[in-house]
Amino acid sequence: MNKQQITILGSTGSIGLSTLDVVARQPERFSVYALTAYRNVERMEAQCLQYRPRVAVMGEPEAAESLRDRLAAAGCETKVRGGMEALVEVCRAPEVDAVMAAIVGAAGLLPTLAAAEHGKRVLLANKEALVMSGALLMDAVGRSGARLLPIDSEHNAIFQCLPNGYTCADPVSPHGASRIWLTASGGPFRERSLETFGEITPDEACAHPNWDMGRKISVDSATMMNKGLELVEACWLFAVPPSSIQVVLHPQSIVHSMVAYEDGSVLAQMGNPDMRTPIAHALAWPERMSSGVQALDLLSMGALEFSEPCETRYPALRLAQRALEKGGTATAVLNAANEVAVDAFLAGELAFDAIPALIEATLEGVEAEPAGTLEVVLGADARARAHARDWLDMRRREAV
Ligand code: NAD
Ligand code: MG
Repeated sequence: MNKQQITILGSTGSIGLSTLDVVARQPERFSVYALTAYRNVERMEAQCLQYRPRVAVMGEPEAAESLRDRLAAAGCETKVRGGMEALVEVCRAPEVDAVMAAIVGAAGLLPTLAAAEHGKRVLLANKEALVMSGALLMDAVGRSGARLLPIDSEHNAIFQCLPNGYTCADPVSPHGASRIWLTASGGPFRERSLETFGEITPDEACAHPNWDMGRKISVDSATMMNKGLELVEACWLFAVPPSSIQVVLHPQSIVHSMVAYEDGSVLAQMGNPDMRTPIAHALAWPERMSSGVQALDLLSMGALEFSEPCETRYPALRLAQRALEKGGTATAVLNAANEVAVDAFLAGELAFDAIPALIEATLEGVEAEPAGTLEVVLGADARARAHARDWLDMRRREAV
């Protein structure tokens, strides 16, 4: 078997680490072409010494300098590059078969788009890229013949519940699928008293009960904007209208999502909450391989519960639905406002319960337009960030 050469964008993050863990179990199947990170030089150095990639890219140019010195001192031959152009290059290099898109946020858009344009197997964890520019990304996949495989556990579950031969971006209804159930754990504040939401600290928000993830997605899970972004993601991946997707609270995170069919069947994908399952699934697809994940023990897992999410507790879900209804660049605006809000919350500059207000004000203040080109999408992203930062400044002045 020819080894698959892979580029891992965001290798120092939570998904990056899980990907390397899976890849290390299958040395006969994969070799690492490139690893990339933003500025965690220490972790990247250790990864380069262990996995010996051809190229390592640091998003921050000064971090690249420092990594280059360290690797030279250690006698490691990995080539070190810095900056966005290099991130894009390791995605389109002719040697590369598959790209794990696991940079967090809008910073992942250009490299992910490059992988899609160059016909790679795109393993998509970076949901923000799709939320910003679903039409462009799906167009690029269609034109180049790239194979898009979802890593987000819910979307990977939905994909697994669709028939063999189903390709992402094709509508699911011709396959008899009538409804998608998107499961949500409810995050760490599912039962916390609403009156105390203003006092929530970043560390509390990042302590997810079932999943161990990066800080941004952990906050998104706590507000449930994560499910809002996933709703947008599902509409693009499975070519369904938002009305065909039902979000359901499922606190145990055992059923990762479900597909209902016309004949009354509901297919679910289950497993322990460990991202190595969807990662191994997408890396090996259409085959299966071991991932290191502990087998699910049905006899000890206890009851599985399902209920409707409460709108007052999770207003972010409604904001995502509103952005979907507006269409065009509105979801890019939603994403940008959310990124500014989460950064401000993590920096201690915005209360947890003010996150939805900032996003709502930005959605109202920045007009949506058809998202036909990358320039239009990036323009909407920039305007939304400026609008959100102005809103934060205004709030700060009012508080003085
Ligand atoms: P993380 O914060 O742990 O890691 C992010 C990675 O991106 C790091 O390697 C970091 O160096 C890199 N990065 C950040 N900013 C960058 C920039 N400006 N330029 C270049 N690189 C940059 O995040 P994560 O939890 O691994 O999530 C990654 C993506 O996967 C997100 O889009 C998230 O929504 C998605 N995802 C994560 C999980 C999970 O369990 N962690 C599950 C589903 C989807
Ligand atoms: Mg998810």
